[in-house]
Amino acid sequence: MRKLLLFSLVVFIMNSAYSQESDEKVIEKIFDNVLVSNEAYNNLKHLCKYAPGRLIGSEESVIAVHFMKEYLEKLGVDTVFLQEFETPAWKCNHISIRMLLGDTEINLRADALGPSPSTPEKGLIANVIEVQGIEDLKSREKSEIEGKIIFYNRPVDMTFINTFRVYGSAVDQRYYGPAVAAELGAAGVLVRSVSTRVDTFPHTGATGFGEKRIPCAALSTVDANILSDALKIDNNLKVKMIIDAEDIDIITSFNLIADIVGNEYPDEYIVVGGHIDSWHNTDGAHDDGAGCVQSADVLRIFKELGIKNNRTIRVILYMDEELFQKGGTSYAEYTEENNIKHYMALEADAGGFSPEGFTVDASDSIVEFISGYRKILEPYGIYYIKKGGTGVDIEPLKKFGVPLMGYRTNPHRYMDLHHSAYDTFDKIHPRELQLGSGCMAAMIYLIDKHGL
Ligand SMILES: [Zn+2]
Repeated sequence: MRKLLLFSLVVFIMNSAYSQESDEKVIEKIFDNVLVSNEAYNNLKHLCKYAPGRLIGSEESVIAVHFMKEYLEKLGVDTVFLQEFETPAWKCNHISIRMLLGDTEINLRADALGPSPSTPEKGLIANVIEVQGIEDLKSREKSEIEGKIIFYNRPVDMTFINTFRVYGSAVDQRYYGPAVAAELGAAGVLVRSVSTRVDTFPHTGATGFGEKRIPCAALSTVDANILSDALKIDNNLKVKMIIDAEDIDIITSFNLIADIVGNEYPDEYIVVGGHIDSWHNTDGAHDDGAGCVQSADVLRIFKELGIKNNRTIRVILYMDEELFQKGGTSYAEYTEENNIKHYMALEADAGGFSPEGFTVDASDSIVEFISGYRKILEPYGIYYIKKGGTGVDIEPLKKFGVPLMGYRTNPHRYMDLHHSAYDTFDKIHPRELQLGSGCMAAMIYLIDKHGL
């Protein structure tokens, strides 16, 4: 009996060890762990090598999900499952954009925007109208636009410090430009890549169409300059666009979900996640393989350090952030149907660079409360916790009043590689990536322990 009592006491002490330890001590242990672990880094290496171009509907997207599922199962967490949903998808089989100069055809480096329709098999050949944006296009005569290829060539505004704002200064051309051009009778659209570099990598992305769709592609910034210069010499030159793309009717796809059930409030979920899909033209190392392996790493850290969580910690690796954002919306529908209560949600989709901060989308009092954690996290690279936008995948939970957070990293290199073939594994630094796992795990530990 005494032995049993003693044993119970030891178990009790072990279980409560973390609750007695100071937050500073637990967080130190988290960072001691991540800085010598290479699991997130190795998982990302695997994803980039064996599942590049994991756009929804692709074989690679399925490979990626199954690889991460197997990894999470190996961690011995409580639940791992696929949340299925039905969705249309799209793929690009081939693209060629050529500038026709007399008998010479000059190849321009380009990638199809999703979901661009195909051109006729022999291509779409038309004159090009260069514009500086949607307003510029709308100011033109309709007769000038009809049957032409519209070339949106307004560069990004580099004067913003945060590159997400640099991106925001020109992305309207890519997202809304093709639909507006289609409405005005254009035959096709070329868009200058939304990037902070002048280089030869085209940066693709989603474009929103209404009823009418026309072929559309992004040119690398170097090729956009080449086309613009050529138009200055001969504004009658033609471009030949060939795009072979397919609409995929309806497929079954899935988000990957893994839980460590909470001890005190198992029905209250703390979500941490990223998106497992990437564009067809990229390894998606920073966008968003990094956020996925870091989210999974949060569960590893809790398991490995034996940190007991009060609430259920749920990792979600969302499918389809890039094309139709179906993963996020379908998860929100699923939680509504099943009456799942979320305590908060954190998304990592800003690249695997050095940590900088967290953004919070919640009431002022919650923002203020969470920003109190800046001090304890500052030694690990968290310099700000402030109100701001968070992530596309968790955004649909906002309507249920769930406090949302975004993990933010040093932004200066992100728009160099976003949605392009330049986003490869060699751009990942292991320490920077692992510090991100640590910051996310530490934030979740603090919120779970102290509440909001
Ligand atoms: Zn992303």
